[in-house]
Amino acid sequence: MPVAWKFIRAQSKKKEKMRPVPKKICLDCRNFSLQDTSSGVCKVVKGLADYPVKATGDSCDQWRDCGQQYFIRIGWIKGELAREQGLQVTAGTGIIT
Ligand code: SF4
Repeated sequence: MPVAWKFIRAQSKKKEKMRPVPKKICLDCRNFSLQDTSSGVCKVVKGLADYPVKATGDSCDQWRDCGQQYFIRIGWIKGELAREQGLQVTAGTGIIT
């Protein structure tokens, strides 16, 4: 095998290890809408007057990956928890300053 191929293969294996494993929980589901730091509502069935409340760690068979939205939610939760502890947080972004 050419050296270049070995290098490329090694790099792709490194990236595989670095990639976070999909958790398949409500927090990283496209159908989830975060309400507070530990729960939100599931909107898998559209048009309901009251959507069912789910904990961030719940899951079901209808899970769909929300992609980058997961990291935005994590940032928001971290910011809210920091704010509760009295730390100064940049408005909107949740970045602790
Ligand atoms: S209950 Fe299922 S569909 Fe609803 S937000 Fe959680 S994982 Fe997604």
